[in-house]
Amino acid sequence: MELRKDPITRSWVITGDDPAEGAPRPESTCLFCADSPAPAQVITTVPNTGGTPWSARAVVHPTPLYHIEGEPGRRGDGLSDRMHSVGAHEVLVENPRHDRHLWNASDDEIGHFLRLAAERILDLKHDARIKYVSLFKDYGPHAGQEFSHPTSQITATMFVPRRVLYELRAGREYFVSKERCVFCDILQQEERQALRVIETRGDYVALCPYAPRVPYEAWILPRNHEAAFERTGLAQPGLRVNLAALLRRTLQRVRAVTEEFHLVLHTSPNSLHPSNTLGYWKTIDDDYHWHIEILPVLGSKARSYTFKEVYYSPVSSETAVKHLREAKIDG
Ligand SMILES: [Zn+2]
Ligand SMILES: [Zn+2]
Ligand SMILES: [Zn+2]
Repeated sequence: MELRKDPITRSWVITGDDPAEGAPRPESTCLFCADSPAPAQVITTVPNTGGTPWSARAVVHPTPLYHIEGEPGRRGDGLSDRMHSVGAHEVLVENPRHDRHLWNASDDEIGHFLRLAAERILDLKHDARIKYVSLFKDYGPHAGQEFSHPTSQITATMFVPRRVLYELRAGREYFVSKERCVFCDILQQEERQALRVIETRGDYVALCPYAPRVPYEAWILPRNHEAAFERTGLAQPGLRVNLAALLRRTLQRVRAVTEEFHLVLHTSPNSLHPSNTLGYWKTIDDDYHWHIEILPVLGSKARSYTFKEVYYSPVSSETAVKHLREAKIDG
């Protein structure tokens, strides 16, 4: 597999002929359970205080898309830009138990997972070759879920994924013209209008964005400005517990509409990266604001053509927020 850059949109894609594609992956024994006979290669573990040996841990992805060894070997050939898929690909095991998900685990357990995520992002950002670290979770057969065990994934890449790059550029442009963070301004307006706020929990707000890409899209943001999730994630445990509770409750609300979803964390890029784009991130601590995006997958409402060209979301955020606020959740 290699990375190729679309010469028109300048976005990177991973492509190649994957011999494993199409072959069903056997998962007779779980690689990620605490008592797995064939556990995956452990990177780091968050110790536990309760009855299990650990509470969350990061392992190497069993079939990684990115490999940490080697040089990206970025090269051009006329219009074509390509590089080897150098980077890191990890699985974050959210819980040692096979049935404890981010919506039914305790806030402490989810807090441990958030701390682990923050530690891994921070650690990967120490590698100056890395431009961006992504954290995401795909849940459900139509969302591309890979493992039945409660897991999220981390990729560390030599490029910034397209959607985040749009946001980073837009955030910076807004800051240049207004000297304010666009996300802080959105939060202020949303809290004032109270039309699309799902719930507030301590320092965190869950809301339906003004222009959703899919029905019931939900974001979680810190109310106080912070560009880097990993700084929040490693801060006082009290902060993390509020975030854990809001994440759990929001996922319960979304699951009242559909079980399947994508979740992605958007945090600041690696400002250690020594490229000539470094100047680009000079105001990153002021102009960007980390957040979690939850994109529910509703098969019945999808329009295959419009989905990627112009987002089509046949439920307005003002309607979606009512359903999500009223969804029955268990505390
Ligand atoms: Zn398992
Ligand atoms: Zn902000
Ligand atoms: Zn975002």
